[in-house]
Formats: sequence, structure tokens, C-alpha cells
Amino acid sequence: MIFDIYVIVLLFVLGLVMGSFYMVVGSRLPKNESIIKPRSHCDSCGHELKWYELIPVLSYVLQFGRCSKCKAQLSIMYPFIEILNGFLFSLSYALYGFSYEMIAFIIISSILVLIFVSDFQYMIILDEPLIIGSVVILLLKLYYFGFPTFTRSIYSGLIMFVFMLVIKALGDKIFKRESLGGGDVKLVTFFGFVFGVRLSFVSVVLGSFLAFPYAMYISLAKKDREVPFGPFLILALLIVFIFMDPIKSFLNLFVYGI
Ligand SMILES: [Zn+2]
Repeated sequence: MIFDIYVIVLLFVLGLVMGSFYMVVGSRLPKNESIIKPRSHCDSCGHELKWYELIPVLSYVLQFGRCSKCKAQLSIMYPFIEILNGFLFSLSYALYGFSYEMIAFIIISSILVLIFVSDFQYMIILDEPLIIGSVVILLLKLYYFGFPTFTRSIYSGLIMFVFMLVIKALGDKIFKRESLGGGDVKLVTFFGFVFGVRLSFVSVVLGSFLAFPYAMYISLAKKDREVPFGPFLILALLIVFIFMDPIKSFLNLFVYGI
């Protein structure tokens, strides 16, 4: 019990630090900037941040959400993303203990956070986290479940890739504009690697339902039809991951009619 709490607190702190890093990666890579240089600085006055201004959440709170030099307002996105990531890291252990599921959950939630950051700010889904995430998930499957599961996962990813390309081609033709981004296609391919075909379909359907109210709001309120689909897809992935077992038994019920 004490040990569990210790691990959860430790993971929360690790999650805060990683969340801060993801914020940098998700804000800089889409603009083709280096992750390392220049050092973190204030976007308004260019003031280079000292070590004590880089402590996740704490610095933000102590500085009342403002730059220590020019007092410009700092984005609430920083502490929000850090806390969200810390929470997800802790949740991974609370739900699964030390296991394949725990590592997979950390990888998926890291990608979730990175996509939130880059897709909401720039409508870009980064390739790097998806590629790294796919490779790590596939290697974990090979290690934990053996070669047949590994190859089946690769096939599943490829099937989802082809499926999304077909949907995109159809959508582009019907709506006479880009219906799905290339990033969405890659994201669902990643789903295929993680979940196999059936649960990936469930994630895509769920993601569409989640995105629908937001898409309605955007098209009515802002006359802007561009909606980032990625955050909704990855949110759906996380929900499906947490409720994997009930969804699986429901699908069995559905397919075999028992
Ligand atoms: Zn400043």
C-alpha cells in the first residue's frame, strides 16, 4: 500500500517533467525548430528561463502565470498539460500495476498529450511520436506475447492504413476538399498496431462521435470547417484502452449473437 502510493507519486512527478518536455516538443517540432536550442525563453520578451523558472507547475504558480521579467501572461496550457500528463502517468500504475498494459498506457497517453499540443496549436500531427510509439509497442508485444501476436499486429496496422486511405479518397471526392489529414491516417495505423482491427474500428467510430459536437460548433460559430480530428481519435483510443475488456465481450456478444 505505502509502496503503491510511493510509485504513484513518483510517476506523477515523472509525468509532470515529461509533460513539460512534450510541451516543448509539441510546440517546436511543427515549426521545424530544434528541441534543444534555443533554451526555453519567454515568447514576448525573449528572457531566457533560469532553472527555477522551469519547474513544472510550481514556477507557474509562484510567478502567478506571468513572465518574471516582462510580466506577460503565460499560457495556461503549460500547467494544464503538465498536470494532465502527471495524472495519466499515475493512472497507468493505479490501473495496471507493473505490466505490459502499464507501459503501453504510458506510451499512448504520451502520444495523446503530444497530439493535443501540436494538433490544437498548428493542426499538425507529428510523425515522430507515432513512429517511435509504434516501434516500442510492437517490440513490447514481441517480448510479452511472442511472434504470432507481433505479426498479427503488423497486419492489423496495415489493414487500418489501407482502410483509412480508402475513406480519405472517398471523402476527398465527395466533399471536393481534403476530408482527412495524412496525420489521421497515420494515427489510425498506430491504433491498428496497438489494438488489432476490431478495437481500432471501435476507436474510429467513437472518435467520430466525440468530434461531432465540436465540429458542429466550429462550423456554426466560426464558419471555419477545419477541425482537428486527431485529439478526438486519441481520446477515443484511451477510452477504448481503459474499457477494453467490456468492449471485447460486447463485440463477442454482437458477433456471435450469444
Ligand atoms: Zn517575458
